[in-house]
Amino acid sequence: MNPFLELGIREEVVKAVTEIGFEKPSEIQEKAIPVLLTGDDDFVGLAQTGTGKTAAFGLPLLELLDFSQKHPQALVLCPTRELCLQIAKDIERFAKYIDNVHVVAVYGGANISDQLRQIRRGVQIVVATPGRMLDIIGRNAIDFSNVKYVVLDEADEMLNMGFQEDINNILSETPDIKKTWLFSATMPKEVRRIAQKYMTDPVELTVGTKNTGNANIEHNYYLVRARDKYAAFKRIVDSNPEIFGIVFCRTKIETQEIAESLIKDGYNADALHGDLSQQQRDKVMKRYRDRSLQLLIATDVAARGIDVNDVTHVINFSLPDEIENYTHRSGRTARAGKTGVSISLINIKEQSKIRQLEKVIGKPFERKQVPQGEEVVEKQLMTIINKVQNVEVNEEQMNNFLPAIMKGFESLSKEEIVKRFASLEFNRFLDYYKGATDLNIDGKDTGRERGERGERGPRQGSKGYTRLFMNLGSVDEFSRGDMLGFICNNSKISGKSIGKIDMKGVFTFFEVQDEEVNKVFEGFKGVDFNGRQVRIEVSGEGGGGGRSSERGGRPSRGGERRSGERSGERRSSFGGGERRERSGDRRSSSYGGGERRERSGDGGGFRDFSGKRRETKSKY
Ligand code: AMP
Repeated sequence: MNPFLELGIREEVVKAVTEIGFEKPSEIQEKAIPVLLTGDDDFVGLAQTGTGKTAAFGLPLLELLDFSQKHPQALVLCPTRELCLQIAKDIERFAKYIDNVHVVAVYGGANISDQLRQIRRGVQIVVATPGRMLDIIGRNAIDFSNVKYVVLDEADEMLNMGFQEDINNILSETPDIKKTWLFSATMPKEVRRIAQKYMTDPVELTVGTKNTGNANIEHNYYLVRARDKYAAFKRIVDSNPEIFGIVFCRTKIETQEIAESLIKDGYNADALHGDLSQQQRDKVMKRYRDRSLQLLIATDVAARGIDVNDVTHVINFSLPDEIENYTHRSGRTARAGKTGVSISLINIKEQSKIRQLEKVIGKPFERKQVPQGEEVVEKQLMTIINKVQNVEVNEEQMNNFLPAIMKGFESLSKEEIVKRFASLEFNRFLDYYKGATDLNIDGKDTGRERGERGERGPRQGSKGYTRLFMNLGSVDEFSRGDMLGFICNNSKISGKSIGKIDMKGVFTFFEVQDEEVNKVFEGFKGVDFNGRQVRIEVSGEGGGGGRSSERGGRPSRGGERRSGERSGERRSSFGGGERRERSGDRRSSSYGGGERRERSGDGGGFRDFSGKRRETKSKY
């Protein structure tokens, strides 16, 4: 008998999950489903992302709700739009063979009228992010008086993101007799407090050991000098040609810089951070999911809720400030029973952090050596050999050309042909890594790497000018002239005080005479552009001046290099970025005036070069 049937799941649902590929329940499903199916208990489940939580609560909901009624009976709250969409989609897939199941995904950054329309038509399951949910409650557009089950998914992340008060407000709209099911990867005291406040005698389950990372994740670290971090990182990537990874940085700027450098160096990479509009985020995520991107460079906040299977490596370009974030980060790999590697690039001073992390995950880290140049070259060579061995030959088409090909190679021996074909792909790596030095900290050779000579430190403004960063750029449809006007109008300074303006895709660097810098900061306080708070920072501040060796671009691969907005001049400050993205950033720091609202693209954004300060008002 199918093990899901044995757990008490009806045949229609079992049929649907079997089609999706679920053969047997995961650990959390096996443990939680029988408890939740009774419908009598509050519940706390400690489980990492990727353990199958969605089905653990989704399948019981499908058994417990009355789908002949069309009012909300279950509310699932989760921290991010991505997760919200994923959960709604998963539940719909599980319900494929049940009639009249209506699920709505309610999240910020999308048109609210569509969501309201779906609610009006009648839904039984509402999956929502807290900000937008409150917005809809505030409009009296939903009736929660018949809600029987509330699921708090990734409760710790919701609290991290500052949703505590919103959750309280939403829960107060639901009947006292409802049952609450809480899922969390960790159990900080704030989550514990929620459990105490809203639950009666909850059944508690832990999958794996508390706080422990997934057993399928290998944790490695590399000890390198700060200035060699980027070069070491590239070697690690080059020696893993099939990598499909997420690279974590600590700050938005570091994220952007690493992504830019990688793009320039010929890698398939892009950045995901809190400064991007929802549309930009969606685009980046789509490319990553479609695997047009091999490396996604992200901040902790932006990467929350990313649910992409088959991520092979999580790379901590910088260790997270909060230890718990390490578990969140590494949990993005080794999903659904697969294996994965979590890599950390650290300097000598950070070794103690590794010891602390080992305690948290309950597992030792392994120190790995940054591959030497020839090891990378060898790895690449083996990949080429594998590719040649596995390539599919289209005999029919090939036959037409074969005589000419054979003729062309007539004068060469088999050995010569093999050598030359391999060299075609391979020479660029050979050249690139020729004379490459040891990047490991206790390596013998501390000499400079090729290409390092003559590198500048972090870019400074011209003499008498300060170089500033702004989080708007050419993708926001600014021309250089627009930008000049925008800066002058808001700062109330003359165009003569502005030096070079260097516009990039999603941000701009511009120089301002030193004595006018404060006016710029003052002038842009609280200024909003298309729903995003305009952020000004001194460029290179906290950049740490890390120089990287192996600066020359990666040998270019046909078609891989992206042209366009991001491939302009790069800045050279890696590492040590001190400007942190605050964990509440998505909500509080992106919107001015202390008003808390979820980032939503539907706020009244507009272009305004008039110099008047405009603010997007919070809806609640
Ligand atoms: P979740 O933790 O719910 O996000 O699930 C993580 C991944 O595991 C998703 O891709 C699910 O489709 C997959 N998954 C969940 N349950 C099972 C199962 N019983 N068998 C195989 N895959 C599963």
